[in-house]
Order: sequence, then C-alpha cells, then structure tokens
Amino acid sequence: MEDSKTRKKTKNRCSFCGRPENEVGFLITGMDGYICDSCSTQAYEIVKEATSSGANSTTAFNRLNIEELPKPLEIKQFLDQYVIGQDDAKRFLSVSVYNHYKRLLQKSTQDDVEIEKSNIIMVGSTGTGKTLLARTIAKLLKVPFTIVDATVLTEAGYVGEDIESLLTRLLQVADYNVAEAEQGIVFIDEIDKIARKGDNPSITRDVSGEGVQQGLLKLLEGSIVNVPPQGGRKHPEQKMIAVNTKNILFICGGAFDGIEKKIAQRLNTHVVGYNTAQKTLSLDKDNMLQYIAPQDLKSFGLIPEIIGRLPILTYLNPLDRDALCAILTEPKNSIIKQYIKLLEMDGVKLSFDKEVLDYIVDKAVEYKLGARGLRSIVETIMMDVMFDIPSQNKKKYNVTLSFAKEQVEKANLARLQTA
Ligand code: ADP
Repeated sequence: MEDSKTRKKTKNRCSFCGRPENEVGFLITGMDGYICDSCSTQAYEIVKEATSSGANSTTAFNRLNIEELPKPLEIKQFLDQYVIGQDDAKRFLSVSVYNHYKRLLQKSTQDDVEIEKSNIIMVGSTGTGKTLLARTIAKLLKVPFTIVDATVLTEAGYVGEDIESLLTRLLQVADYNVAEAEQGIVFIDEIDKIARKGDNPSITRDVSGEGVQQGLLKLLEGSIVNVPPQGGRKHPEQKMIAVNTKNILFICGGAFDGIEKKIAQRLNTHVVGYNTAQKTLSLDKDNMLQYIAPQDLKSFGLIPEIIGRLPILTYLNPLDRDALCAILTEPKNSIIKQYIKLLEMDGVKLSFDKEVLDYIVDKAVEYKLGARGLRSIVETIMMDVMFDIPSQNKKKYNVTLSFAKEQVEKANLARLQTA
C-alpha cells in the first residue's frame, strides 16, 4: 500500500474517491483536502434528493389498501413462527401495528373521528425476545421501520446523541422520503436506561435521564422536529430535515431490572387491610412482570408524561426450561436448524441425541446465560465437528451426550457468564 505521506508529496488527490489530479476534471481545494468535480456533483445530487423528497411524495402511503393488510391474527401467526411464547406481547403488538395502518388509512378519508395513536411499551428481562419480536415484525411491515437504542441519547449539548437523531435511521430506511418516514414505526430499545436515577433529580444534573425523557416526550406527543440527515453531531454543517412525528408509531422496550420489587411493594400495600392471605397467595412470584401497571414505571423513574404517551403496556414472560428447549429447536430459523443446514451443505445429515438438547438447556440455566447463551453453547459443542467434517467423507453425524459434555468441559464455559 502506498504510504499517505508519499502520496501527498507526489500528487494532490480527491479526498473522496482518491483519484489523483491528472485523472479528474479539476480539484477543488479545501482546508484539509480536495474534492474532484465528479464527487462534488454527486454530493450535490445527494443533498438535493435528501432535502426535496419530502415535498413531492405526500401521497406515499395512499397505496395501502385495508384488504391487503395483514390482520392481527395473521401478524401473530407470523410472529409465532420465529418467537416462542410471549403471547400477550404478540397480541398487543399485532393489534397496535394493525391499528397503526388503520390510522394511516383513515387520514386519507378525512373522517370526523380521529383515531389517536397508541404507542407501546414492552417490559421484559433481557434476552426474553423483545428485540426479536421487533425484528420479526419488521419483516412483515409495509411501512419504514427501525430499531434504535435509547442508551446513546443525551440532552442537547452533552456528549452522546441528540434525541432527534432517533429519527435519522427512519429517514434513511425510507430513503429520505419524509412523507413515508412520517408514517413509520420506531422501536426504541433499552428505554429503561433513561429512567431518572434516584428519587431526587435535582441533586445532580441528570443529562441522560429526565432531560432525555423530556426530549423524547416531544417525539412521542407528535411535533415537528429537525432531524440531522446524517445523524449525530459530527456534521454540524448538515441541513436539518423537518419531520412531523404525529403519525410515527413508537414501540419501546426495556428490561427494567428490579421493577419486580416495585410491583411487589405496590401489590402488598394494596392488599393490606382486606383479605390479605388470599391475595398474596394468588401471586405468581416467579413472574411478577405480568402484574405490571403504569405506576410501577413511574416508581422506576419514568416521568408520568412519558408513561401517558405509552398507553399500551405489555410484558414478556421469563423463559423457563421448556421455553429454552423450544427456542433451540422450534423457530423457523432455530439454532439447531441452522446447524443442520450448515452440515447439509457438506452433504452430512446432522442429528442430536435428545439428552444433548436437555444438556444445552441445563448449561444455559446453570450459567444464567438465557436464550442468548444457547447459541454460544451449541457453537462450543460444534466447533471441532465443523472444523473436521468438511474434509471427511461422512454422510451422517450424530452428536452424543458424552461428546457434548467433553466439548463443553474442555471449553471452560464459565467465561461466557456475564451476570
Ligand atoms: P431482549 O429481550 O434482550 O431484546 P432478544 O430479543 O435480543 O432479547 O433475544 C436474544 C436472543 O435470544 C434472540 O436473538 C433469540 O435468538 C433468542 N430468544 C430470546 N427470546 C426468544 C423467544 N421468545 N423465542 C425465540 N428466541 C428467543
């Protein structure tokens, strides 16, 4: 490779395409670099497209037709193929997405009754399928969709991303067609990370907590915000694109670690005074999230205004042994199916003894790895096989329990443990 110093000495080059001066029409000199005529033309086209697409595509969504839209039941059936269990969350999501479509359709008929949007919040421990649900639903959607992470957000002026940048990805997915982006769906992951820290927010300035929530509120409520088309703050010169969030559906997800305690506290204080014994007996202590109510989100540190803008509250169940076992084998692209497919391409029929699957689940439970750990365990077991098999002339390979144990013990699985 040419050393950059010698490159500079020999010829001036376009800092974008790298071509030297003699290979381009002309070079424009900047502070620290150059741009050639063809790159500047291209840049101009991009800017033109990005800034004008909003104006000429106002009817982008009118092609939607109610008969063609997937019904809630169909959406749920589709989710069932990829996501194990989590029926409540699936139903809520399916209905919300369907209603979102209906709202968009209704806009064009200009009825008197205005259907308000219902943003959703999903609460569930990490690794129970929140992001998977969002990703899966995205495959089916007819509107732009993006997943963003709330952890990078801070109030304007602090290190991190501005709240408006949440919509940058949506604009990009919609090919900078503002009208389409304004009807899209945004999944905000890790919403719990912007909860207020501590009960008294005024002691220290909480730039990533309440301030961000206030900013987010504007997006959820529906307002016109200026979105940086390239995202972040790295391009202070970029021209902002105005996006109206009135019709954008927001789906939020978070683990809300420790919220079970708040739920339990609320339920206990409620039951005091009448029929205490009966009430506490009927609680399922292993799955407290199913009793979640908006006031628990408030005790956790979300401001009431945000909670009010997320009227649909649903939860995900913890994954028990049966669920983990099902995750291993049942989804359309389950880990086991993926490995069978991989070896099929080498002409090998791969099989697993039933005890191996139980063993994998046992290990995931033992090391508290959850569903995420299943893949690492299977990979640990299969690594040697995947290495050797393509060069052997085998037609079949069966993974036995003793082999699986040997591989796992060899690999020192404890290193995978995160918690
Ligand atoms: P989170 O709730 O933290 O967003 P994810 O959706 O990212 O969790 O889940 C992590 C991984 O675990 C997924 O990619 C998937 O392989 C697996 N998984 C988790 N829950 C389920 C589920 N209910 N059904 C199928 N796979 C699951």
